[in-house]
Amino acid sequence: MRAFKRWVGFVSCLGVTLGWAATPGPVPPPDDRELARAIFKELVEIKTTHDMGSTIAARAIEQHLLKAGFPSRDVVFVAPADHPMKGNLVVRYRGKGKAPPVLFLGHLDVVEAKPEDWSVDPFELTEKDGWFYGRGTIDMKEGDAALLESLVRLKREHFKPERDLIVAFTADEEAGGDANGPAFLLKEHRDLVDAALVINLDGGGGDYSRGERQMYEVGTSEKTYVTYTLETTSPGRHGSLPGPDNAIYRLADGLGRLEAFRFPVMLTDTTRASFAKLADLDPGPRSADMRAVAQTPPDPAAADRLSQNVRFNALLRTTCVATLISGGHAENALPQRAKATVQCRMMPGDSAEHVQSALVTTLNDSRITVTLDAPPIVSPESRPTPQIMAKVAEVVHSMWPKVPIVPTMATGFSDDRQTRNAGMPSYDLGGIWIDGDENRAHGRDERVGVQEFDESVEYTWRLMKVMSKAR
Ligand SMILES: [Zn+2]
Repeated sequence: MRAFKRWVGFVSCLGVTLGWAATPGPVPPPDDRELARAIFKELVEIKTTHDMGSTIAARAIEQHLLKAGFPSRDVVFVAPADHPMKGNLVVRYRGKGKAPPVLFLGHLDVVEAKPEDWSVDPFELTEKDGWFYGRGTIDMKEGDAALLESLVRLKREHFKPERDLIVAFTADEEAGGDANGPAFLLKEHRDLVDAALVINLDGGGGDYSRGERQMYEVGTSEKTYVTYTLETTSPGRHGSLPGPDNAIYRLADGLGRLEAFRFPVMLTDTTRASFAKLADLDPGPRSADMRAVAQTPPDPAAADRLSQNVRFNALLRTTCVATLISGGHAENALPQRAKATVQCRMMPGDSAEHVQSALVTTLNDSRITVTLDAPPIVSPESRPTPQIMAKVAEVVHSMWPKVPIVPTMATGFSDDRQTRNAGMPSYDLGGIWIDGDENRAHGRDERVGVQEFDESVEYTWRLMKVMSKAR
């Protein structure tokens, strides 16, 4: 997913120059660095688009783990019976059992890439001018390679974690999603992935601004996707005899009221912390407004001013918007039916029932029916607790001293919704640094910095060690 998870846009428009230059961070010892790069190349060159599936990549990872000495009972390949090419590989690194396991997630699938659109072959890893190019280099085979290499390195070092470390390399996060790995594992193989804590490398990470390290983002929450159908009918009849009862006009009037409606401001622990941190980083006039909305209760005038910006608006409230409309059946007849799709993104903690009743009240016309298309996969916030934030700071500051660490809510969604919906607190803690203007995830000539890749491998090894601590 990646693309929606960053504060891309705010960050680059903040235009802050902080005091520290982006001095290179630590990288792994030479042998581990070479192994990580070799694994990265292997994974990028196995095409894992929606059509191809993830099974070949999952099997390749299985071979590396067995070769590294993981017992075969702890290296489990599973695929849905009706989707054999949507395979998942789950490995358990056994610990001392002092706490319930921690689960690391990395999706193996990538978005389609057409070679004719790219300046290099998207399914070959190309190193050029300090960059690695290829599909999945930023979303997220760099994370998969870092997880796998770290497992091999920890094993070789005879590292003994205090709790089990589970790593799930999964299918079908991107477009398609008919055999989503985490959803399948939670439903059919819960014992394999059951954990007290989930770390997903498909989000979070460092933001450069003008080449300097601006902040490290921790993804703690995302909005919930939910869709409603609005429908209304009228008697119809001949187009030459229009009267007052017309489904199209009625629906249009209702949608006009919806356009003017705004859900109340709703803050979470995460968005409150985000605004407070961003206020510190933003020298501009918005800084005071950010501080004022971070208060309890939030300042309504400040919230109104910030809501002028569509991104801040999306962080401050549940949103609903009409995305499709249809109506009528013939050019020369009065309509018998009009229908609209309203797409909502709920704040964590909001409910589909509450949103539906707000829609009914706002439409204010009992002849317009509102129906829920499908029950949402609810994604509660995983609170940025002092305990988890201290662990994140321990790892991040060991790599990149002093960078501000900011908890963030994504307006899109990722596999986190599966694990959060299953009651497992989940945090996005990717290891890559990118510039907000640079993110090419899902796009042409996707790339990651060579230095950034090496640092991310080292970071992931440290992350796994810190997160394996029982407390
Ligand atoms: Zn992704």
